[in-house]
Amino acid sequence: MSTIIVTGAAGFIGSAVCRYLRQNKIAKVVGVDKMTYAATKESLDSLKDDPDFTLVEADICNGAAIFEMLTALNPIGIMHLAAETHVDRSIDRPGDFLQANIIGTYALLEMVRNYLRIIPEDKQKAFRFLHVSTDEVYGSLGASGSFTEDMPYAPNSPYAASKAAADHLARAWHKTFNMPIVISNCSNNYGPFQFPEKLIPLMITKALAGEKLPVYGKGLNIRDWLYVEDHADALYQIFSRGRMGEKYNVGGAAEYKNIDLVNELCKLLDEALPQSAHRPHKNLITYVTDRPGHDERYAMDFSKLNKELGWKPRMTLPEGLKKTVNWYLTNRSWCKDIQLRKYSGERLGQLPVGQK
Ligand code: NAD
Repeated sequence: MSTIIVTGAAGFIGSAVCRYLRQNKIAKVVGVDKMTYAATKESLDSLKDDPDFTLVEADICNGAAIFEMLTALNPIGIMHLAAETHVDRSIDRPGDFLQANIIGTYALLEMVRNYLRIIPEDKQKAFRFLHVSTDEVYGSLGASGSFTEDMPYAPNSPYAASKAAADHLARAWHKTFNMPIVISNCSNNYGPFQFPEKLIPLMITKALAGEKLPVYGKGLNIRDWLYVEDHADALYQIFSRGRMGEKYNVGGAAEYKNIDLVNELCKLLDEALPQSAHRPHKNLITYVTDRPGHDERYAMDFSKLNKELGWKPRMTLPEGLKKTVNWYLTNRSWCKDIQLRKYSGERLGQLPVGQK
């Protein structure tokens, strides 16, 4: 069986990709992860007895380690998801994002380029590199329209800017060095094992504790939501069948205002926890100072992916949210451990008072 390397394998989406590849017996999988605060080994627990899955702790910036891995494993390709990913943290510590997302992608591309030079031509031709990115590179939309692949980039947060830079590197390494690279840009994901700093798990964990639910600004920002397992499927379709040198948008066709989403989560928690002292959970909602540079609206036009590769999301948002709330209710110890050891829900990404 051939081998696929997945970077960022112990993260939220990377772990879903590893589970997808192994559940469908697509290839042997070697996950690479630096095991930052955002990584959790539990997300890969279902693969711990699988002889065709291995997790290697390594930084993608460590070229020597990556090159050694490539020559030892002879993979048929790389699905590159490793990144610093939380917009609010990118406001507090932009340098970490430039290092992981830009330098990390550059280091990885260079090692793959070196590797491709030394392998036989037939293996070179079969090799594929998927660079995984976000809709945030396109900036913010007004009330109508959606992002298409040919839109100019206009990133507004340090996170989005670092991902945009990485996308440009991936594109340039394809154009200049003729490397077999394809790029995906996806909207907001949700589902099991998402680190509880992100909107949906943050709201669920805070509501369970009876804490205030901090909604930024007026809660009117709109995001398009995709269930993580649908994203994993899209990524494999693009990795295996997408045209090299192309870019594919991935979306959920599920636009929601943040406040409507939080209200929906509160309703689901009310239903799931009829004895809770915190019902109705919507009374916990509180509006807080907006995120600096908060994009107003994202929406994805993924018709190219649908037309070329036949992909569309399977999970509806109401169904997916119900599943996700149930997952967090039955996996409270996973969140508790994170809250104790890594992140206890404090506000991140605020500028010092008086600084615009
Ligand atoms: P995540 O933060 O949950 O996981 C990222 C993983 O990358 C972590 O396990 C972390 O340890 C690892 N990592 C970070 N720096 C590394 C380095 N230098 N070397 C090796 N590993 C490193 O993020 P996620 O939500 O799973 O996102 C995965 C990818 O998908 C990212 O590239 C992100 O930009 C992209 N994406 C995410 C979303 C979303 O809604 N979460 C949407 C679109 C695209």
